[in-house]
Formats: sequence, C-alpha cells, structure tokens
Amino acid sequence: MPSPGRLLVLSHRGPVDGKRNAAGTRPRQILGGLPSALDAAMQRHGGMWVASATRADGVLTPAETGLGYDVRSVRLKEREASTFYAGFANQVLWPLCHMFPNRCRFQPAFWAAYHQANERFAAVVRAEAVAGDRVWVNDFHLALVPGMLRTAGAPGPMGVFWHLPFPPPPVFGVCPWRAELLAGMLGADVIGLQTDGDVQNFLDCVRFFLDLRVDQVDPRVRLPGRDVRVVALPVGIEAAHLRQQADDPAVRAHATRLRETIGADVILLGVDRLDYTKGIPDRLLGYERFLERNPEWRRRVALVQITVPSEFHVPEYREMKRTIEEIVGRIVGRYSFEGRSPLAYVYTAFDLQQLAAYYIAADVALITPLRDGMNLVAKEYVACHSRGDGILILSEFAGAARELTEALPVNPYDPEAVRRQIDRALAMPPEERRTRMSALARKVAAHDVHWWTSQFLELLQ
Ligand code: UDP
Repeated sequence: MPSPGRLLVLSHRGPVDGKRNAAGTRPRQILGGLPSALDAAMQRHGGMWVASATRADGVLTPAETGLGYDVRSVRLKEREASTFYAGFANQVLWPLCHMFPNRCRFQPAFWAAYHQANERFAAVVRAEAVAGDRVWVNDFHLALVPGMLRTAGAPGPMGVFWHLPFPPPPVFGVCPWRAELLAGMLGADVIGLQTDGDVQNFLDCVRFFLDLRVDQVDPRVRLPGRDVRVVALPVGIEAAHLRQQADDPAVRAHATRLRETIGADVILLGVDRLDYTKGIPDRLLGYERFLERNPEWRRRVALVQITVPSEFHVPEYREMKRTIEEIVGRIVGRYSFEGRSPLAYVYTAFDLQQLAAYYIAADVALITPLRDGMNLVAKEYVACHSRGDGILILSEFAGAARELTEALPVNPYDPEAVRRQIDRALAMPPEERRTRMSALARKVAAHDVHWWTSQFLELLQ
C-alpha cells in the first residue's frame, strides 16, 4: 500500500520510454526540458510519476528503471495518442497559447481525444492515490485532469503547472472549448504559471469566460466554498549540474576543439527545436543583415545554429525547415570566403554534455523566440558562463526575459533590432559583460529547478 502524503506527478512524457526491456537492460531515459526538471523533483521527493505510453500499462519500479521512484504508465492506443498529442495539444493549445490563433485546427475529433486521454490519466490517479496524496499535474496536455479528479473527490491537495505562456482573452477566447479548459484547471487548489503576465491573462480569462470573482492582489479565483491560488513561479534549471559540466575538463576540451574547428574570433549560438514559435528564420534574417552591414566582421564571426528535429510531422514543420534551409544556403553562399563560412547549421539533438561544450564555446547566445513560456536554453547558457564571460541576447517575448533583465533584450520580429543587438554585443566592454553575466548567473543559481519544485510543493501542503 502506498503511504499517505505521497507525491504523484503527472505529465504527458515520462522519464523513460516506458518499455519493459529484456532482463538486465533498463528503459531508455528521456532527457531535456520538462522531463529533466520533473526528474530532479522526483529524485529529491520520491513518489510516483504518471505518464503516457503506447506500449506498456503498469508500474516500472526503481529496480527496473534505476530511478528513485515508481513510473506508472497510462496506456494510450497509438491512434488515440496521436490525435490527443499531435492533434489537440500541438495543433490547438500550442499555437493558441503562443498566440498564433491562425495556426489552430479546432477539430472536434481532437477535442474528443484530448478529453478521453485526460480521463485515462484521471482514472489512473483514482486507482493509485490514497487520501492525503499530493497530485501535481504538469502542462497543457492534462488541463482537464484536476477538474475530473475534483468531481470524483480529490485524494488530497492538487496543483497544476502550466509551462506555456497563457494568452489574453482575445486570443484564448477563439478556442471553442475555452470554458471547459479553464474549469478543468480550476479543479486544482493551486495553479502555477511562468510569469506575472501569464497570471494576469489567466485571471482575465476566468473573469471573461466563466464570470467568476478573482482577487488581483493576492491572485486567486473565488469559487463557492474554496479559493484557487494562482501563482507566478518561473521554472528553473539544474544550475549546479550545468556549472559542473562547464568546469569539467573533458567538456572544456570539447569546447576548445569546437572553437578551433569553427575558426572564428567570435561565435554566436542559437539552440532551438524546429518550431515556428522559436523565430529561427527571423533570427537568421537579422544575422544576414548584420553581415550585410559589417563587411569587416564577415571573416571573423560565425553563428552556430543548432536545430533539434521536431517529434511530430505536420506540413508546416516541413515548410519551415525548407524556409530555414533556404536562408542558411543564401547566407553561406553569399558570405563564405576561402572555404570558411560565417554560419554553421546543425540539424540534430545533442545530449546535455555535448550541448554544454557548445554553450561554453559561444561568446554570444542569440535566443530570439517569437513567444516562449520560459526558454531553458537561455538559463543553461548563463549557468555555463557563471565565471562572467559570455553575452545573452534574449527575446522580450520569452518568459525568461522577465527574470533575466541583464540580458540584451530584443524584439525578435524585427531583424533590424536583432542586427543592432549583435552590434552592441560585439562592441560590449569586458567589464560590462562580466557585470551583466555575473548578475544573470546569480539569478539562475538562486532560482534553480530545486527552488522551483520546493516552492510549488510548499504551496501544495
Ligand atoms: N536540448 C537538448 N539537446 C539539444 C538541444 C536542446 O537536450 O540538442 C534541451 C535543452 O537542454 C533544454 C531543452 O532541450 O533543456 C529545450 O528547452 P526550452 O525551454 O529552451 O525549449 P522547448 O523545446 O521546451 O520549447
């Protein structure tokens, strides 16, 4: 029997690929972004992580995974999983919350699959949880779960953390299921969002579409018989681990080799999943403009753009890949000289250790999403430059910009602004660079992923 007060974490993706492997081998661990952040929480607090899988249904024990907690799979059939995930999550909620309503495909079949997948998660929690267990629902894939659990009788305190931006009413309001989504989230006792702006937008949506009373000062929604707290709690990274990576002689040697191979005096770096929210074409256009205007830099600078292939395949991703490759080809064709190119385009995913070498090798991180809930890459870059070198150019529309105010801010929609900030970064005196980066590093270290999880779990007590 599970002990009362246990932590149940829910997310679409789990920490492992869910397959029960042949004896002696462990399931493959999934790395990066949200799974890594939640893994840090689970390693520290223990409990059970509930996540979807298409092949397995059941519990993987610590002995089977090598992790310090149970992993409970929620089995979704292949077709159901893809309609729920590639459909409602990625073609409705993702564009909606990043404020691209024109990209939303409001298909009733997507909504039905989303509802059904959320039901399955709620059923697993009902089967696994005992009175007093804390339930922590993560992200936009599972917005309806808190409401479903509340209707059935909540086992204990429930929280939901929304990792995406939350759009204002004129954008959120175009979704035909806006009221159901909000009501689902309000099943929780605590709703966490990334920034104050997201909290404000959420409260506005609740007032507009559910006609409920909200408190703006100590943000909460007033329901008959209970209040739902709404808090801004920016997600952090494993800052100490990144700093360790940055000090590791093998990683530093890799960074040195990269610098030699790239062969530029100054290296700029972009790291993104292939996604229209990341603003990769606009960034490349800004860089092209910089090269156009600054012939003296053409042989001395290089932008390394790492693009991680997208997990799911819709025509607009293929189209965007083509657009990016066209701009890359044009820049390389126009500005390469004697076999050296001012642009290296890498279309692959690295592990964190390899990525740390790129972070260290880069003099400037060029992080210009058109909209981003947080952007962990920005924080990872800073953590790798805790010694005070390096410059961060950061989109005003990334959640991280609210905290990382010593970065050089940029409007990512404006290639001319991107060009100006590259100019500014390259001319920045070393003293200013150190002051800015040291201040950023202190913030990233203080508000790391452990701070984030303990703050959220404290709210759940
Ligand atoms: N990442 C990775 N390998 C890569 C590029 C990125 O593991 O080659 C990770 C990176 O370390 C970061 C995450 O992917 O933790 C990206 O998170 P972010 O918040 O920046 O963007 P998201 O992809 O979640 O929208």
